[in-house]
Amino acid sequence: MRNKEMNMETAVIHKGYNSSEHHDSLVTPLYQTSTYSFANAQEGEDRFAGNSEGNIYSRLGNPTVRVLEERMAEIEGGQGALAFGSGMAAVSATLIYLTKAGDHVLCSRGIYGCTFGLLEIMEEKYGITHDLVSMTTEQEVEQAIRPETVCIYVETPINPTMELVNLQAVMAVAKKHGIRVVVDNTFSSPYLQNPLRMGADFVLHSATKYLNGHGDVVGGVLVGRDADEMQHVRMTVQKDVGGIMSPFDAWLLLRGLKTLHVRMDRHVANAQKVLEFLKRQELVKKIYYPFDVQHPQYEIAKQQMRQGGGLISFEIEGGKKQAQQFLDSLSLIKIAVSLGDAETLIQHPATMTHAAVPQENREAMGISDSLLRLSVGLEHTDDLIADLNYAFEQVKPKLQEI
Ligand SMILES: *Cc1c(COP(=O)(O)O)cnc(C)c1O
Repeated sequence: MRNKEMNMETAVIHKGYNSSEHHDSLVTPLYQTSTYSFANAQEGEDRFAGNSEGNIYSRLGNPTVRVLEERMAEIEGGQGALAFGSGMAAVSATLIYLTKAGDHVLCSRGIYGCTFGLLEIMEEKYGITHDLVSMTTEQEVEQAIRPETVCIYVETPINPTMELVNLQAVMAVAKKHGIRVVVDNTFSSPYLQNPLRMGADFVLHSATKYLNGHGDVVGGVLVGRDADEMQHVRMTVQKDVGGIMSPFDAWLLLRGLKTLHVRMDRHVANAQKVLEFLKRQELVKKIYYPFDVQHPQYEIAKQQMRQGGGLISFEIEGGKKQAQQFLDSLSLIKIAVSLGDAETLIQHPATMTHAAVPQENREAMGISDSLLRLSVGLEHTDDLIADLNYAFEQVKPKLQEI
C-alpha cells in the first residue's frame, strides 16, 4: 500500500492487519488466549522491561484486540487507541487518568447517566467537582472555567434532546487555558464526526452502539492524539483498573466495524424518511434531529457533523400514558434502550434511560413525559412507517376521549 492515510471506508476493513503475519488468514484471527509463552527467561525479562516487543498477558494487550485499536485510531484521526470491556470502562479510565483530588471537570449540559453517576462518586469520595453547562457559544464555555478545571468533557449531540455542543468554541477556550478535551462520540460514530481532527485530546465510544452495530457486544474504545500518552494509559490506568475488552468481543467488533460506513449511510437515509413522516403527524408536538432546519443549533450541526445521524427524538400529544400506549402499539419496532443496531429501537427516557434523574432536573434538560427516542435501524422504511402509523392511530382516539 502506498504510504498515505487510507480513506475511512478502506481503513475500517484493512487498517492494522497484515495477513502474512497470521498464516494468510483473510479475516483477523481470534486469539482467545489469556497469556503468551516466552522462548526463554531472558525474553520474559526483556518483555517486562519493555526492551522487546511482544505479548505478555492479555490484560496488557492481545493481537485481536490490537487490530481493533489500530483501526479505531486511524478512523478517528488519532495516534493510539485502547479497547475496554464497556463504554463506561473507557469513560472511567479516562476520568481517572485525567483528574486528581480537588480538580474540576466541566461537562456539557447533558451527559450519559452513568458518566454523571461516576462524577458524583468522584465528587463524594475524592472532591473532584463538576458542572454541567450549555456550550453553544465560546462565552458560555469561558464563563464556566475555574482555576481548578483540568478537563472539558462533552457529548454531542446530547442524549436524548439532540442539543449540540459547539466543538469549535470548546476547543478555542480549552486551548487558551491549556485544558484537555474529551468527547464522547458514541452518537455520531467516527463516520459522521471526528472531534480529534477539530482539536480534541481524546475521543471515546460506547462500542456497543454504532461501532459494532449488531447488538451483540458491550464494549468501549478510547482514542488519543498522542501515541506515547496512550501507551502510558495502557500500562497504568487500563492495566491497573483492568476493564479490558475480551478478544472475542474485539473479533465481533472487527466484523461489525467493516460495514460502519454502509450501515451509517442507511441509518441516516432511513432517519430522514422517518423524520419526514413524523413531521406530518398531528400527534407529534416537537421533533429533535440535528440536521432538521428547525433544530436550534442546525448551523453548528452542519459545521461539525457530516450527516444528521440515526437518532430522532420526538414528543407526542398527551403525557406519560399516551407515550406508553404508543410504545405498546408498536410491533416491528422494539422497545429497548441502546441504539445503533440493525433493529429499530424506541425508548421512553422519562421512565427508562433518565428515570434516575429527578423530574425537576429532567424537565430542565427538556425531557418531558411525552418524549420518545427512536434509534432508526436498517429495515425498509415503509415497514417502519407502517408500524409507527398504526401506533399513532391507536393513540389518537384515546386522546380525543380526554
Ligand atoms: C451507551 C453509552 C455509554 C455507555 O456505554 P456502555 O457500553 O453501555 O458501557 C456512554 N455514552 C453514551 C453516549 C452512550 O450512549
